[in-house]
Parts: sequence; C-alpha cells; structure tokens
Amino acid sequence: MPAKWKCINNEAHIFERATNDFLCTYCKQLGELSMIIAIEPVVPVNKPSSEHPESGHPGLNQNRSEHPGSEGFVSGRPASCESNAINGETSSPKSTPYNYDSGTPEFDTYDQKSGIDESAPYNYKPDMPESIRIGHEYTMGRVSRKEVGLSVLVMDASSSMLEPAFAGSPLSRLSLVAKTAAYGVFDLQHMQNNPNAFVTIIVFDDRVRHVFPDGPISIASLIKRFDADVHKFALFLEEELGSMKQGTDINAALNEAYWVVSNFMENKFSSIYDGQYSPVQQTILKFGTIDSVSIPNVRVLIYTDGMQYDARENRTLLPNPFNAHPILGLNHDVLIGAYFGQGNEDGAAQLSSVVSKCPVHDVRQFFLIDSPTRINSLQSLFRMASGASGFCPKCLESSN
Ligand SMILES: [Zn+2]
Ligand SMILES: [Zn+2]
Repeated sequence: MPAKWKCINNEAHIFERATNDFLCTYCKQLGELSMIIAIEPVVPVNKPSSEHPESGHPGLNQNRSEHPGSEGFVSGRPASCESNAINGETSSPKSTPYNYDSGTPEFDTYDQKSGIDESAPYNYKPDMPESIRIGHEYTMGRVSRKEVGLSVLVMDASSSMLEPAFAGSPLSRLSLVAKTAAYGVFDLQHMQNNPNAFVTIIVFDDRVRHVFPDGPISIASLIKRFDADVHKFALFLEEELGSMKQGTDINAALNEAYWVVSNFMENKFSSIYDGQYSPVQQTILKFGTIDSVSIPNVRVLIYTDGMQYDARENRTLLPNPFNAHPILGLNHDVLIGAYFGQGNEDGAAQLSSVVSKCPVHDVRQFFLIDSPTRINSLQSLFRMASGASGFCPKCLESSN
C-alpha cells in the first residue's frame, strides 16, 4: 500500500491511508474541501478509484435512453410548464475567497495525528445573512406568491471528464466536480430560506439531460430527497455524470439552460409553487455609474473542461444565448462560466469569450479551476450559484 497521503491545502494533515473519497477529513470538518495526494507517487494517477461510476456503478436512470449520435437530443425535459414575474433583494451566502494566483499553496506546519473518523459529519454551517429575502410572500391580486431564486447548474459529462483531476490524486475530474457540487449545494442546508431557492441540474456531453425531470427543485427538497446526506447526493451526481461520456456540445447545453430560464421567467414551472411565484430581485449599482438595475436572482453556471464538439463534429461555439436573445425581465446576462484546466488552453479562451462582465465589478463572469487549491473555490462557486447570487470572482470574494 502507498506510503502516506497529505492534504493539498495543509501539509500537516497527514494520512496513513487514503480516505475513502480522497478528500481531507480534517478540512472537511472545517467546511472546506481539499484533495489529498500521495506523498510518494505510488498510485497511478489514471487508475480509476473503485467508486467511479464507470467501473461498475450504473447510472441511476437506466430507463433513460442514450440516443447515441442524436445531437441536440434532450431527455428528461420537465413537462411541467404553466403562467408572470416581480421583487426583493438578497445577499450572498458565505464563501471563501477566490484567489487569482495559482502558485503552490503555502503550508502550515504543525503536528497532527492521523487515524481519524472518516465518517465524521460535514459540519459546515455558513452564516447565512438575515438579509437573504428569498421567501418573502406577498399578495398580488388574490393570489399569494412566493419570491424565489433559480439556479441552473450545467455540468460537463464528456469523456475527458474521466481524466485525472490533478496529478497525485486518483480522483477524476468528474468525481471531483460531483463531490464539490454536492458540498456546495449542501452548504445551503442552513440557509433560512432554502425552500425558496430552486435548482435544476443539466448534464451534457453531446446530448443534454435533466437530472430533475420534474422541473426545478428547492434546495430544501433536494436535501430531503437525499436524506440530508451529502455523500449520497455526490454519488448520485457521479452516476448521472458517469452515464454519458461522449462529446461536448456546449451550444446545446446553453440552449437548454436558456429554455429553463425563459420558462422560469414566464412562471411555467408547476414544480415551483404551482407557478405562483416571482423571481426575487436584487438591486445592483452598476460598475462605474450611478445607475442601479434590478436583476432577478437567477444564475446559470456552466463548467466544462473542453471546447465545443458536438455529435456532428461541429467545433463552433455559438454566441451565448443569454446575450444574443435577452430574456424579458432578466436585465443582465446571468451566465457564469468555469473552466476545468489551464488558462492557456483554447477551451478556456473560448468559454471566457462568451460570458459577460459582472455588472458590479466589471470582471468577467468566469472562473478558472487550474490547480488542486482551487477546489475550495469551486465548492464556493457552486454554493454561490446555487444560492442564485453573485457573478464573478470578486463577488465570490466579497461574499465571504
Ligand atoms: Zn486538510
Ligand atoms: Zn462581481
């Protein structure tokens, strides 16, 4: 068996054996995700861990057809679509800062024993500001409406996501992202108004599939559905992502997200209070001006590790639909992009070129996940997006 393993964020976090999920248990207890890597490179980095879906865990939704080669095919699109929109304000959930420099981490040095309880619960309890106003109820005409937020998580499940996330860890990108997303969403467990924060998840390769085919689900319901067990949700996501593995049709994925947001703004989702809701609005002072703008708490987060490559081998990334065809009432392009890879790769340039700039900070709504130390940022990004707040790395920093 390998020698020891160490935490990427804190060298004093040493493990005799690899943890089950190749994450640091000490950091997890502090509410942060951090990978562990072998101190000596004894584990082949491209050997899939036993918990990877591709090695024996079939996807949960086997009844869903795969339709190979049918580009643009969408499965599981929510059928529940029904009737208009209006207002509030919010603030962001607590997040850890996103650091721009990608140098090696600085390690604390103090002694720490290994042999800890790997099943220790995930204890993170972010301070959710009281000012989160998602959930206010008001009466319009004779109908009582809830103010809700919507997050659309668009997750790349292409074959390249099966590659090792970072050298020294057996975790694939897919596995790491699944865990990171699960923890990010579960961080909202203690957000007071999480019954009114809705999320929907779209997975894509050169096809597109809805993970929740009944339409957007509230964070509260999601957590309940997975028995408040973040590991269960992470495994579910891994299985969903692991069941695809073809090309990378970013165009189709963005179109599907656009479809979701359009329908949300038109109150067509019966899964959200039977369509009796309004988007929570956030008033933002636009960068460099004295103008304020009211933007609904709707966010679309797409991450990818590649470039556009659909079933027809088309490599042209089309204009961002949120920009090209603005949705009434949205007042801003709500697409946030994250790239899993190095900043000098063409895929990074391609994705960052289609996202808009944050209305508050004038910084691109783009995140680069290029080193293991960014895993915490990715978790925070999923948390921010799931809470339907923030746009850019600076938003993530200031929401801390
Ligand atoms: Zn650690
Ligand atoms: Zn910003």
